[in-house]
Amino acid sequence: MSITIGKIFDLTVNKFPNKEALYDVRKNLRYTYKEWSLEVNKLANALLAEGVRKGDRVSTYLFNTEELATAFFACTKIGAIFNPINFRLMSEEVAYILKDAEPKVVLVEQMLLSGVEPIASRFPLISFWMIDGDTPPFAQSYHDKVNAASMKEIVEELEENDVYAIMYTSGTTGRPKGVIHRHREMVEQSLITLAATKLEPSDNGLVTAPMFHCAELHCAFLPRVHVGARNTILHHFDPKSVLTLIDQEGITKFFAAPTMWNMLLQENLEAYNLDSLKLGLYGAAPMAPALVFACHEKLGVKLVQAYGMTEMGPAITFLGEDDQIRKAGSAGQACLNHEIRIVMPKEDGPSDPDDVVPAGETGEIIVKGPCMMSGYYNREEATSHAMYKGWYHSGDIGYLDDEGYLWVKDRVDDMIISGGENIYPREVEDVLYEQGGVLDVAIVGQPDDRWGETVTAFVVKKDPALTEKDLDQWCLNSENLANYKRPRKYVFCDVLPRNASGKIQKFMLRKQLEELFSNEG
Ligand code: ATP
Repeated sequence: MSITIGKIFDLTVNKFPNKEALYDVRKNLRYTYKEWSLEVNKLANALLAEGVRKGDRVSTYLFNTEELATAFFACTKIGAIFNPINFRLMSEEVAYILKDAEPKVVLVEQMLLSGVEPIASRFPLISFWMIDGDTPPFAQSYHDKVNAASMKEIVEELEENDVYAIMYTSGTTGRPKGVIHRHREMVEQSLITLAATKLEPSDNGLVTAPMFHCAELHCAFLPRVHVGARNTILHHFDPKSVLTLIDQEGITKFFAAPTMWNMLLQENLEAYNLDSLKLGLYGAAPMAPALVFACHEKLGVKLVQAYGMTEMGPAITFLGEDDQIRKAGSAGQACLNHEIRIVMPKEDGPSDPDDVVPAGETGEIIVKGPCMMSGYYNREEATSHAMYKGWYHSGDIGYLDDEGYLWVKDRVDDMIISGGENIYPREVEDVLYEQGGVLDVAIVGQPDDRWGETVTAFVVKKDPALTEKDLDQWCLNSENLANYKRPRKYVFCDVLPRNASGKIQKFMLRKQLEELFSNEG
């Protein structure tokens, strides 16, 4: 029997038909697995009636909604390729993805109308389905489509090697790339994650990070369905709603990006009962150890870290709850069945997987494992670079210690070279996070005639009285920061630019610096 994602869903429905499966907070709607399965089959039939066939793409441009969750399984049952689009993208960015992925149907919601309305006429072959509110002239009603479809048994025979999704990368380093994943890869990812987060059918999960991103979708939502646990779906992250839901719904586990954990810590935690919380998963971006410790202390939650990338499903390492203090700052050990190597980076092409550096030395992180993508959609050259000699080349720099723990230093592109010395922004950020008056921080390099680059810190204050002098003194006193790594310039700001998966958009900060610098000059 080929285990596909649709098959996982059916097996769980058969096992736990009357168990509560899903709660959509915005709609105040609850489904048992059997009720949800009915909705999945209705949508699958509606898509078939629209002419969607195996291999056709179906996109969602939605916040976290029951319809997105339902579309995920409906597509995977009929063999349509699921393509969730980042809800933060603006209309021209959405147009870029629609042009690349060429979906037959796109599900849209009212709050995101401005992202499709100006561009819809450029895509006459796409059918836009509105899941809520009024239906504009270019679109049709999702609910009309679903209600009109006749209910037939879904007979599509799928294989585990069939393509399941095209997921676009965050675009942190350039245009988003469409990552092709097969059913088999995501079934493996789900199994690996459910073991690492000790998921059980009794678990009560909260979906709060964006579902279009693979960290939430594959490392939290899908594994919970896999074991028959429950998913509470929060439309979009809001710290007060997360804390209220933990309190009222007895949430046991959830994934959040580091910036979200940080926002939770700024709330009046005394006002909520968080006793049900068993485990939190963090990842998608680095999390300073000081922040991890604050979560242990103030939220009373055990944490597990996942490190990875869309191309790998995403998780390639986990740092377990027992290692959070002993190995603070590490990304943990390779996931089951994964192999990680650290190799000498090359400037003029992909690094050679056999050019391995000695243990403890820094180089590019490359990885091999069962969840590796099948390639980038429409991007042959990028695919052959990224998957050179069968290893995925992450573009991240790090090292493996003598116990096999991975330490991610930074992205190759974000590394600063000052006076010939390599500086990894993350280590400077970690030191500044420990200064109690700092809420958020990002380090970038600034071009400099004498040193090549110098270190600049963008800081969001927690303590309004915090000064540049306080921070410089803090760095001078730190035993973890060599003098040449000290920021030479501080820029105070209200907020750091982040994408929807919580990654700081450093290219925007570099641009801002350039503008500041040219104004000064
Ligand atoms: P693009 O490839 O379009 O620039 P992206 O690389 O940001 O997008 P993602 O797959 O969302 O796309 O992000 C993967 C990257 O996120 C990793 O390569 C790494 O730099 C960072 N990352 C993920 N998890 C962690 C973590 N736990 N610690 C540190 N960095 C992390």
